[in-house]
Amino acid sequence: MHHTTRPGWIEVIAGVMFSGKSEELIRRVRRSVIAKKKVQVFKSHLDDRYGGVYQVSSHDGAAVEARPVDSSIEIMRLVRPQSEVIAIDEAQFLDEGVVDVVTTLATRGVRVILAGTDTDFRGEPFGAMPQLLAIAAIMDKLHAICVVCGDPACRNQRLINGRPASYESPTIMVGGSEAYEARCRHCHSVPKADEAQVRLL
Ligand code: ADP
Ligand code: ZN
Repeated sequence: MHHTTRPGWIEVIAGVMFSGKSEELIRRVRRSVIAKKKVQVFKSHLDDRYGGVYQVSSHDGAAVEARPVDSSIEIMRLVRPQSEVIAIDEAQFLDEGVVDVVTTLATRGVRVILAGTDTDFRGEPFGAMPQLLAIAAIMDKLHAICVVCGDPACRNQRLINGRPASYESPTIMVGGSEAYEARCRHCHSVPKADEAQVRLL
């Protein structure tokens, strides 16, 4: 019997903000374009760092645009039958349905590449990232550099008016004035709003 490697698997690029996930996703997409694969790129519309869309272009002039999406169902609707590689950036913002969507695509023979922040500002698992990491055939966890001490950073520090945001702050802030820094576990700070009260009890 003749065996060939059949296409169709899931890759996850995880890590904190500034760890280079988008760079790595774009690198893989660019290489797929060079390999003349049919590629589609999606990203959650909640990430507006690049304005409406961002482009991934190759040396030979081919370009891939990332399509902003609101939900996993929208990805399923927009995927073209002939697509061989599907890349999804900012996967942590997508609903849990993304797990079924990427499983279906991989089974169909698609190489699925997801990039996402695997922990929220509290340092706790973010959205569907734990499930995605569990079902991935290939996963990479990238680190940034702690802006306080220079060690590898594995946490997202949320700052509001320059001060660490409290634990009770919402996971996703819409149109907020918050800022983020990459920090290591030891320089990361998430005060509990009621800590002072608890001490009094
Ligand atoms: P991600 O998608 O993980 O948020 P990006 O790919 O958008 O990351 O950006 C990674 C780039 O950010 C790095 O190559 C580097 O130039 C820059 N950068 C800014 N701050 C930091 C930091 N604290 N640690 C590492 N890289 C940083
Ligand atoms: Zn540190």
